[in-house]
Amino acid sequence: TVGMVALDSSGKLASGTSTNGLTHKIAGRVGDSPIPGAGSYAGFAGGAAATGDGDIMMRFLPSYQAHESLRLGMSPTDAASNAISRIKAFFPEFSGAVIALNRKGEYGAACNNIYNNEFHYMVQVCLLKLFNGWLADTI
Ligand code: ASP
Repeated sequence: TVGMVALDSSGKLASGTSTNGLTHKIAGRVGDSPIPGAGSYAGFAGGAAATGDGDIMMRFLPSYQAHESLRLGMSPTDAASNAISRIKAFFPEFSGAVIALNRKGEYGAACNNIYNNEFHYMVQVCLLKLFNGWLADTI
């Protein structure tokens, strides 16, 4: 999965995912990625995106759960960790990760059973300028 959460300079939040699905997936399987709240979610407080064992994770709506924790004031790292812990309580061996971003621009992530429990993700801060209606620059 490629999962993203974005915050623009006017405070708008968005999230999205793209995935090739699981290996040996059943034909017609939808998975978690396109399901709002499972694969990703963005709301007033921030946004989150998830990757991993979609058939397990989608039952817990981890991205929505992380957003609710952000809304209650949790840090993004704690919100992601809490969403992962709720799944781990029932499926200790599941593989998955959640990234989270709040509307202040703070971010964090948590994972379970992924590469020595280190989940690597990328952060891009950019300033997009509109010049005569054209996207002129990325810093
Ligand atoms: N979550 C995806 C799925 O279950 C797999 C992935 O994270 O790559 O379809």
